[in-house]
Amino acid sequence: MRLADGIRQHGFRKWYERELLQSHGHMVLLLFCTLGILGSLEAASSARTLADKVTDLLTTLLCAGAGLWSLRRYLYLLSHAEAVANQASCPACGTYARFKLLQASTDGRLVNVGCRQCEHHWDIES
Ligand SMILES: [Zn+2]
Repeated sequence: MRLADGIRQHGFRKWYERELLQSHGHMVLLLFCTLGILGSLEAASSARTLADKVTDLLTTLLCAGAGLWSLRRYLYLLSHAEAVANQASCPACGTYARFKLLQASTDGRLVNVGCRQCEHHWDIES
């Protein structure tokens, strides 16, 4: 979910929480893919027919592809959430994550926010 839409719908803290949960969901998928690779390699070592070996090899490749995709998503979502969270403190008073959305660029990459504590405005880049 884009930052501006997430702040608008749920607020920053919920958006951040959801990004971290989604990120760690991909990490769990990566763990399952790793187990799938190990299981299919184990099955391939004891396969007797060519069809079984091909099936095990395809399963290994499928798990490896899904695992690489989930690793990439995990790292992207985690680093994106952390990069935004590092900009969530008010530069004037230091209050963390207590701001309201004022404006968002059309592509959603730049969000202008205002502190609820001191009314200072600053940009958050995502
Ligand atoms: Zn402030």
